[in-house]
Amino acid sequence: MGKRILLLGAPGAGKGTQSKQLAEKYDIEHVTTGDALRANKDMETEYGTPRSFMEKGELVPDAVVNEIVRAALEDADGYVLDGYPRNLSQAEYLTEITDLDAVLYLKVAESELVERLTGRRVCSECGTNFHVKFNQPEEEGVCDECGSELAQRDDDTEETVRERLSVFEENTAPVIEHYRDEGVLVEIDGEQTPDEVFDDIAATIES
Ligand code: ADP
Ligand code: ADP
Ligand code: ZN
Repeated sequence: MGKRILLLGAPGAGKGTQSKQLAEKYDIEHVTTGDALRANKDMETEYGTPRSFMEKGELVPDAVVNEIVRAALEDADGYVLDGYPRNLSQAEYLTEITDLDAVLYLKVAESELVERLTGRRVCSECGTNFHVKFNQPEEEGVCDECGSELAQRDDDTEETVRERLSVFEENTAPVIEHYRDEGVLVEIDGEQTPDEVFDDIAATIES
């Protein structure tokens, strides 16, 4: 059975960057509600489209994301879960549907998060993350992995970033405290270089 890893952290903490590498190293699925929702932005649900919530930086309703995660975990032999749970009710649902082998929290200061998110650039084809300062592609605006064009996410503007960080404080910080109270949370210093962060995560998973 593959490892079941939960990666928690604020928007911009480096969850996507680390998850991609973890999925490769441990041969597990990268399950990310953010990517799944972006691929289905205009899907009609009884609550409206995911887009209507995402462009404001608000959470998409639990029923929609819970179902995405349930279906993805059912099919996975080991996974790194990124972007979920984002509130206590999602955390409760997750406990009902799976066990976890590791719960990691990537800790990064708020001022650093704003700079990371507003400078983030994402490949429009393969989804690889870059940063205009911290993780520059070899050629400006072009993906190193596949040569496609890089774009800024609609919700990576300063105003929406501030809203997302406040949604994180209100809804997701209690999730982190919940796992801390259970004694299973391992905190990782997310302000190191990506390689250093990865080494700390791998050491935790293997210990
Ligand atoms: P980031 O990587 O910056 O944290 P994500 O790609 O994970 O952002 O999420 C982008 C948006 O998708 C969120 O602002 C929210 O609107 C929606 N979203 C993603 N995951 C969830 C979730 N678990 N619950 C509710 N909404 C979510
Ligand atoms: P999340 O999925 O948690 O929102 P990302 O992995 O997309 O975070 O990272 C957000 C931005 O910060 C991206 O532009 C990424 O290239 C950059 N980044 C990721 N990890 C680091 C790091 N350790 N140091 C500096 N910048 C980073
Ligand atoms: Zn690409």
